[in-house]
Amino acid sequence: MFDKVLIANRGEIACRIMRTARAMGLKTVAVYSDADDSSMHMQMADEAVHIGPAAASESYLVADNILNAARQTGAGAIHPGYGFLSENAAFAKACENAGIAFIGPSAKAIASMGLKDEAKVIMEAAGVPVVPGYHGAAQDEKTLMAAAEDIGYPILIKAVAGGGGKGMRLVGKAGEFADALASAKREAKSAFGNDHCLIEKFITKPRHIEIQVFGDKHGNAVHLYERDCSLQRRHQKVVEEAPAPGMDPALRQKMGDAAVAAAKAIGYAGAGTVEFIVDGSGPLSADTGFYFMEMNTRLQVEHPVTEMITGQDLVEWQLRVAADEPLPLAQEDIPLEGHAMEVRLYAEDAAKGFMPQTGKLVHFDVPDYLGARIDTGVRGGDEISIHYDPMIAKVIVSGQTRDEALSTLSSTLRETNIAGLKTNLTFLANVLDTDAFQNAQFDTGFIDAHLDALIAEDEHNDQLLPLAVLAYRHHEVMHRPVSPGNDYASPFDGESGWQLNLPPMMSEIIFDHNGEEYHLRASYPDDDGSISFVQNGTVQTVTGADYAHSGVRLRANVDGEQVQATIAWSMEENHGSSLYLMANGGCEAFHFHDEHWNEADAAAGPGTLAAPMPGKIIDVMAKNGDVVEQDQPLLIMEAMKMEYTLKAPRAGIIKDLNVAVGDQVADGSAVLEIADQDD
Ligand code: ADP
Repeated sequence: MFDKVLIANRGEIACRIMRTARAMGLKTVAVYSDADDSSMHMQMADEAVHIGPAAASESYLVADNILNAARQTGAGAIHPGYGFLSENAAFAKACENAGIAFIGPSAKAIASMGLKDEAKVIMEAAGVPVVPGYHGAAQDEKTLMAAAEDIGYPILIKAVAGGGGKGMRLVGKAGEFADALASAKREAKSAFGNDHCLIEKFITKPRHIEIQVFGDKHGNAVHLYERDCSLQRRHQKVVEEAPAPGMDPALRQKMGDAAVAAAKAIGYAGAGTVEFIVDGSGPLSADTGFYFMEMNTRLQVEHPVTEMITGQDLVEWQLRVAADEPLPLAQEDIPLEGHAMEVRLYAEDAAKGFMPQTGKLVHFDVPDYLGARIDTGVRGGDEISIHYDPMIAKVIVSGQTRDEALSTLSSTLRETNIAGLKTNLTFLANVLDTDAFQNAQFDTGFIDAHLDALIAEDEHNDQLLPLAVLAYRHHEVMHRPVSPGNDYASPFDGESGWQLNLPPMMSEIIFDHNGEEYHLRASYPDDDGSISFVQNGTVQTVTGADYAHSGVRLRANVDGEQVQATIAWSMEENHGSSLYLMANGGCEAFHFHDEHWNEADAAAGPGTLAAPMPGKIIDVMAKNGDVVEQDQPLLIMEAMKMEYTLKAPRAGIIKDLNVAVGDQVADGSAVLEIADQDD
């Protein structure tokens, strides 16, 4: 076994790999970009090497920088995690050449699974069922269309080099074929530089069920059962579980055997996943149709659910196999116990097409006391940047039964506290809440079919406003500057509002909450910590103690009723103090106009609208001279396969708009200015 391993990745997966490496007594080396200086994965490692600027193409994807870091630190092995260089055959080869163990399969095995058509040919030869279709060399429209007729509509056109749903078109009838093929080829050419396509039967009501496989360098291969990953948005998984609900043992055996045959066919060593599409139009049985889709030659994001039902550590298996050891267990010795479920918590706006969100994660904690495993690479206070995947954490639970796992997961999400960013927390809780999901009635169309119910936001929690006023008054007392000669403890000094023989004096508190500006008169804390304030002509009393600190669980009496929330404070220059109160998986924000508040700056904001990342402008909805409102959508850009709406940072008049549709813009470049109307 090598004694030092470099992890060529970041975020949760880098941290997760380091945990196992360390438990096995290995030293760990992190690599990090400018954007990840002081990140969790960088701080967790024994050594850390800087490998370049924030953009992945200039850091985490630069093979030479990673290899140099390994040489410089004397690391004997490189774990690529998932994404980045994990399925890059040239990188695996470069590691081999440099005498550094690549923790993954051989370059040859990676390459053989790299193209969908070649992979299908290999699988067919190994006796693995593939989706009926055409994946030959001829690419003329006539041949492909004849193939589609033979298979029978509906069919899917797929780019052989495709990934992330690109170059994929669903065709319902012959009349739509030619246009769909032309556009799939166009997209494939521009995204992958390869416009070859294959034709597949479109499986209606499909379930995505994949098999975890493992091979070693001694010719052994086993499977570690299945994972059901049918819950997807934008062809990306959000909820995964193992075993697949309703799995028939005979079908499991057939799929497992097929996956092992697939691994053996390419002499596979290491962790891999064979993805199948399964006919979900009826219950799973020994005769249910299942078809090979693709093989991922790496550790998968959702591997923890397999670890939970088998009690194995898949990263440990990977390290042992890479060090030429045989597989730790034989097929018949691999346990399958209970049920595990994982959700991926993302910084994204589910209601706006799952648009990634960026910014500061002011507060973040997922409770683990119910038994959840939390795989994360960020902490409260960290930034979710535009440069990488916006996943915040994976929350994984297990139970004796699916119901037990589901209930633990629901409770865990309800007690999760996140402030500062929009996340899919409510969306995930809504998924777990639907009857259809609870009854395991789903296919890959589940999220689209239930979208309206799933993106419903929680009602605003009005009970938290009194708590905000209470917390603010305590916060003020704590942070009041103490000047010389000012006896802090004396009620005659400062602004406690204390008046001899009079009820406590009230003063005004101004804050923004849910798009409204509030002006409330409120008293200062009493000896018992209580305050009073006036809202809509009624005096309310809130009783509590020293509740000024972030992370404190605030429990207060609001006119006799008990209300609870977790507090997070965030000070923003010129924008006053922001208070976040988190309860039941929701979060209410209050922005106080205090001494840190600068009315003009807060209203004006920065006048420059800059591109948040490199990308291409695909729509311009404004022109120079237009008068716009704050947050009015002005441009749409495409970057990292997603569309981003750029909004007016402030109200005013547009000038210096100097981009047009089709333009490429650099990260941080100014696309327009907003001036005051009278400028
Ligand atoms: P990509 O590599 O672009 O992600 P995949 O081939 O992995 O494309 O397919 C992505 C998703 O598309 C699958 O998880 C499944 O939901 C759906 N899909 C793929 N092939 C078929 C098919 N033949 N019939 C129905 N749905 C399919």
